Amino acid sequence: MNHEPEPEPEPKFEPEPRFESKPKPKREGFSLISGEDVSAYSPEVEFTPWHSSKHALVGVIVLVVLVIAGVVGLHVWNNRSVDVMVNESSVSIKVGSSLDDLVSTAGLQLTPGNFMSVGGNVITEGGGDPYEASLNGVSLTQDQIGTTRVSDGQSYEFSNGSDTTEGYEVQLVDVQPKLEVQGTAGAITYVAQWGKVGQKHVNVGTTSGETVDVDVVTEAQDAIIVKHNFNFKDGRKLIALTFDDGPSKYTQQYLDILGQYGAKATFFNLGQSAETYPDLEKACISAGCQVASHTYDHQQLTALSGDDVYSEITKAFASINSASGTSTTIIRPPYGSFTDDTWLLTQGSISASFIWNIDSEDWRLPGSSAIVSNVVNNAYSGAIILMHDGGGNRDEDVEALPQIIQALQNDGYTFVTLDELMAADDSIPSDIASGNATMPSDCVWPTELAA
Ligand SMILES: [Zn+2]
Repeated sequence: MNHEPEPEPEPKFEPEPRFESKPKPKREGFSLISGEDVSAYSPEVEFTPWHSSKHALVGVIVLVVLVIAGVVGLHVWNNRSVDVMVNESSVSIKVGSSLDDLVSTAGLQLTPGNFMSVGGNVITEGGGDPYEASLNGVSLTQDQIGTTRVSDGQSYEFSNGSDTTEGYEVQLVDVQPKLEVQGTAGAITYVAQWGKVGQKHVNVGTTSGETVDVDVVTEAQDAIIVKHNFNFKDGRKLIALTFDDGPSKYTQQYLDILGQYGAKATFFNLGQSAETYPDLEKACISAGCQVASHTYDHQQLTALSGDDVYSEITKAFASINSASGTSTTIIRPPYGSFTDDTWLLTQGSISASFIWNIDSEDWRLPGSSAIVSNVVNNAYSGAIILMHDGGGNRDEDVEALPQIIQALQNDGYTFVTLDELMAADDSIPSDIASGNATMPSDCVWPTELAA
């Protein structure tokens, strides 16, 4: 009999529990069969019963729902609309909005300020603060305006933006002295005070470069020139003869006549001629007379550039000082041409400039008697008389000079040099009266007239 073996029954498939897809780590010595009652193996075995997993699932779902609800609720809260007062009108706006948004939502038309220079000029129109704001009555800075966020119940006031000013750097700078002119006219214009540099703090705009005064550290000392006439009314009878354009072939004759009468005079010489006749320069000094400058080669100083004025003056002083063995810083400008602006160009090289009170008009060659009367009839104590040494035929002067001296000496006059005339006048500073004052080394000469 063919006896086929009975097929073995199919093993029954026990499904794995759904919520135990991941096997728990095995404990040593125990096998873990999920979903079975394993209490027979060991009461200490961990397991998750089927009915506990269902409770966990519900819990998770509730949690998720709560979280979602919370997130949604927070979102709604954060995006809620709030009412704030803007310039006394109520405006609804999303909470947390910026003030820019609030201004825009409120429809305010605000004019920005300008960006200004330290000197008060507009650098950029509209480049200042966009607007100003206060919150609940308290002004906000621009930084606070940028960080403030709208929240319920606030009250804002907005207004046009203010101007802002550029940054600046404080610098210490020199202040140059100016030239102050005192008096309107006179035979002498002398330096009454030399100039000194001062210092001040200024703000220099970092954008504009403009400079604005802050404070004075040291006052500048203006230079002062004074126009003055000598006029002695105390009984002294002093008078000053002056000869221009020498030295010349006439100089010695003049010196001889002066010596004969014990009179002194001042010779305004050309530097060029002093180089030609150095002995005559020395002879003038030996005779007790004074030599001073009439420029180097008779230039009209008012027609020259600044550099030429300076060189014409200083070159003549150097020649005359070298030839005479003395020193002078006094000048008579050719043609009497010397203005306040010319003074600015001297760089402090001269101490006094002389013209005259009485013109002998010898240059017209009017005859010696006319020259005598032109002088004698106009004489007064302190007067400066103009005659000439070089520049043409001077025979009339040589003939007139003794008569002039005699007439005025008979009238009680003493013929003095300009140094002596200055020394006789208390208003002239003693250094200037020396005739050779130079600018002190700590002083400077101005290049601008005082206002
Ligand atoms: Zn001259």
